[in-house]
Amino acid sequence: MNDNVPTPAPRKPDLILLRDPVEAQPPLVDAFQRRITYLRLSVTDRCDLRCSYCMPERMTFLPKKDVLTLEELYDLATGFIARGVTKIRITGGEPLVRRDIIDLFTALGRRLGHDLAELTLTTNGTQLASHAEALAKAGVRRVNVSLDTLDRAKFAALTRRDSLGQVLEGIAAAKAAGLKVKLNAVALKGVNEEELPDLVAWGHGQGHDVTLIEVMPLGDVEEERLDQYLPLDAVRQRLEQRWTLTESNYATGGPSRYVDIAETGGRLGFITPHTNNFCAGCNRLRVTATGQLYPCLGGGERVDLRAALRSDAPEANLAAALDEALRIKPEKHHFRMDARGAAPALARHMSMTGG
Ligand code: SAM
Ligand code: SF4
Repeated sequence: MNDNVPTPAPRKPDLILLRDPVEAQPPLVDAFQRRITYLRLSVTDRCDLRCSYCMPERMTFLPKKDVLTLEELYDLATGFIARGVTKIRITGGEPLVRRDIIDLFTALGRRLGHDLAELTLTTNGTQLASHAEALAKAGVRRVNVSLDTLDRAKFAALTRRDSLGQVLEGIAAAKAAGLKVKLNAVALKGVNEEELPDLVAWGHGQGHDVTLIEVMPLGDVEEERLDQYLPLDAVRQRLEQRWTLTESNYATGGPSRYVDIAETGGRLGFITPHTNNFCAGCNRLRVTATGQLYPCLGGGERVDLRAALRSDAPEANLAAALDEALRIKPEKHHFRMDARGAAPALARHMSMTGG
């Protein structure tokens, strides 16, 4: 053997379709005649940040054996696509901390232009600099990046990690790779309250849409939810003192309502589960990394898709489980801000269902 010839590294097999594409099946329509076309698929509950409104510092993560494999996630997505889902958002936890996650994007990306119209991602941006190009290559066109503050010390306090620089690099890399970036900021009383207009101005200056989100009472965190909660109607009033806001017809299939800001030339979304209910137009289902389907972000209803997937008749049992999810999807959420000192309205954290 010639020592000068390097032995090629074994090629990692592509994630392949485990079964043939499932025949088209009846569309997903719930008991309130809402057609479901949008899946939010969480690929991990783990994260490299610890945002204080999302999870405690000492978060208990799920045992890895309970988490679906990439192949199972792909099969699951296939089951949803067969029922008429055309848009998939990959979320978490932090999806980009999952090993080999790009393989899932690549595999799902092959279906774009066939039976899938859009593949997107919600990320905290810390790993985006190294993944942006691969995501674009896989067919991702838009990413949501969470960014609550541009102040390094505030970012470190809020996320309990000093990673603002990495996130800004990630956002720049996404833009350079041709991805359309939307920034998501949770409005937090006394934390980024004063800074939100500047954050919006910065985002628009960079060419990014921005969406503001009201904090939701999901899972135990160290702080009182009531102390975090900042109603967005108050934020909007403040923005209106600075700029001219005009209602926009723009819609992405999510719960955001948009305005155009004349002075910045940018678009601003509001997600207001408390001050404005958006359930009538809900077209979404959410699945956790362990294959638990939550028909409503604000409800406790749940269907176990992993059991269906790992059964002897996965396709039939998955179809039956999806029918059950449609049957129990509630008409609307019942979020209410927790009373001081009370247990959270819902025990599961946002990092399970991915927002
Ligand atoms: N790690 C990724 C990220 O931060 O973008 C994806 C998962 S994260 C759970 C998805 C979104 O949920 C983020 O925009 C985050 O700010 C938001 N979020 C987390 N906990 C929340 C809460 N309790 N109320 C409102 N939004 C929350
Ligand atoms: Fe991690 Fe996203 Fe939760 Fe922050 S909001 S802790 S980045 S999952």
